[in-house]
Amino acid sequence: MNIVLMGLPGAGKGTQADKIVEKYEIPHISTGDMFRAAISEGTELGVKAKSFMDKGALVPDEVTIGIVRERLSQSDCDRGFLLDGFPRTVPQAEALNELLQDLGKKIDHVINIAADKEELISRLTGRRICKVCGSSYHLTFNPPKEAGKCDKDGGELYQRADDNPETVANRLEVNMNQTAPLLDFYEKQGVLTTIDGAKHIDEVFVDLDAVLQGEQ
Ligand SMILES: [Zn+2]
Repeated sequence: MNIVLMGLPGAGKGTQADKIVEKYEIPHISTGDMFRAAISEGTELGVKAKSFMDKGALVPDEVTIGIVRERLSQSDCDRGFLLDGFPRTVPQAEALNELLQDLGKKIDHVINIAADKEELISRLTGRRICKVCGSSYHLTFNPPKEAGKCDKDGGELYQRADDNPETVANRLEVNMNQTAPLLDFYEKQGVLTTIDGAKHIDEVFVDLDAVLQGEQ
């Protein structure tokens, strides 16, 4: 079961990733984790990636793809994997197809968790963070017991600057423009399924799981 999981910020990708990983016992492979592991293990590619990151530069595809290749070659991926945050572009998706072919694997499903922009904006702008302990709340989905105060320590809750509606709308716009060609690419490959992420978390997983089971 080799899966690529996609979805805009706020679409609930992280929650669904946890559920897939738990049910199918496959590793959740996010770009950030892969980079951190390669860097902490001091692999050749990890050292290379770090040299770019230290300069504040983007890690070139060649290095990123090398790191993905190393990760997907590990034995815990024999039963499958869930890729999250990679690929981000069509050239990366093409490179992923090639490296999977080399490894005798292929992508079985690309799942895109979709929700409309207004819904995502309302979800993302509802986030509140405790000034004291950093705990995260949501005005609608996970409200504190007392408005404006952290349940754990009574700390004041604040909204991160990049959670304001204008910034969120811009972020979503940029993200949508970036992912559109990638969705087209996977649509043409016949592996893309779009799931309605506006439903309740558990219902979204039922739909998603039906796809993974080949029922949809
Ligand atoms: Zn707190």
